[in-house]
Amino acid sequence: MTLDLPRTTDEILTTDLHLVQSFADLNALKQSGARTAIVAAEGAMVRDSDGNELIDGIGGLWCVNVGHGRREIIEAITEQLQTLDFYSTFYSFTHPAAAALSAKLAELAPGSLNKVYFGNSGSVANDSAVRILHHYYNRLGQPKKRLVLSRQGAYHGSTYLSIAMTTPEYSDGWSRAEGLVHYLRKPHYWHEGDGMTEAEFLDALMEDMRSRIETLGAENIACFVAEPIMGAGGVIVPPKGYHKRALEICRDYEIKYISDEVVTAFGRLGHFFASEAVFDIQPDIINTAKGLTSGYQPLSATIMSDEIHEVISGPGGSFLHGMTYSGHPAAAAAGLANIALMERDEIPQKAQVTGKLFEETLKGLEDIEIVGEVRGSHFMIGIELVKDKATKTLFDPDLNIGMMVAQKAQSKGLIARPLGHILILSPTLIMTPELIARTGAILRESILEVMASLK
Ligand code: PLP
Repeated sequence: MTLDLPRTTDEILTTDLHLVQSFADLNALKQSGARTAIVAAEGAMVRDSDGNELIDGIGGLWCVNVGHGRREIIEAITEQLQTLDFYSTFYSFTHPAAAALSAKLAELAPGSLNKVYFGNSGSVANDSAVRILHHYYNRLGQPKKRLVLSRQGAYHGSTYLSIAMTTPEYSDGWSRAEGLVHYLRKPHYWHEGDGMTEAEFLDALMEDMRSRIETLGAENIACFVAEPIMGAGGVIVPPKGYHKRALEICRDYEIKYISDEVVTAFGRLGHFFASEAVFDIQPDIINTAKGLTSGYQPLSATIMSDEIHEVISGPGGSFLHGMTYSGHPAAAAAGLANIALMERDEIPQKAQVTGKLFEETLKGLEDIEIVGEVRGSHFMIGIELVKDKATKTLFDPDLNIGMMVAQKAQSKGLIARPLGHILILSPTLIMTPELIARTGAILRESILEVMASLK
């Protein structure tokens, strides 16, 4: 069936008045009507409804890792839908695609992380992980172990639980579940490590973690959750050794470690999973989504250890958790084809090289007066814009400096994501050296032009 979709920019933007955009200033959208309709995509590029070809500098939303328009994935989804459009994984039901993907993830995930609960978003993966851990502790006769340790700056999603796990700024003016989540210090050396060496800063962070646990009581704490590199909090790479030390503390106090790899997995940092390959830890649960299907279908995975699964699957253990679309056949097929493509074309391995080039190219922007810090790793980069680099003074938030640069970059052919005074770049992993150079050049021109306009 050919759908009768709105085609011109005018048609799309008129129809779009019924759509509520995520994380948008809805009032500003209503007043200005400034929206971009993306109508097609191929490889590392997207096309808007006015025919502009743009470098997809944010990979959809940190997710289109293998690039747009990959026939292999589209065909696998289509074939799956032609055979089995839907069946659930409730009760005793299973189906080939969900079974095969769970086995594949068990093979790729570190150590004893061998059991997979599928959801349809990163938020649901994090929500599920905490529910599962609460149930795990109930079954161990430790029902007081409830609290979640998160960090200032973290982003873990938008369900009622996952937004509570997220740094409080993300629910400014909104209600949130109170009391369940406690936030440790943001591990950002550049802003918070003044007067300390990086090693001293790490010691201070770990001291903070220990003392918070002592105050709250380990007997009340279920888990610690951390992104290997904080993404939506501004791309924060913690001091070297942070995750290993945090895991040791978790082990000392019998607190489970959840690694939120919604962004960092599936090649973005050059490996299928970053927890072990990059940060040398084997957490108790890894949550992932986004790059798992490269965004071709909504799918997440909560990958838990055999030990957790053993407890929740013991006698009398009813798993009272379920989502209709858990392990949806089309989504599971997309995941399998996406991983097969990554393995065949060695996309994570190649991202180790091109991702480094991307990182170094953008790092080169630090010579610009208002670029305070370019940070991140491989295809996960944040550019912090500051009024005064020496004093690390920020621009007036009302200026919306990130948006100014992002709009300028878009007019020159690059989509970047503004986050206050920070620009986020998380493109497809198939960026060529030419596209990487072009991205660097557009960002340089855009920042310099905005800087000149402020003088
Ligand atoms: N966790 C991290 C680290 C994320 O970056 C995100 C989304 O950006 C989420 C969880 C939530 O994922 P979703 O938007 O698929 O619910």
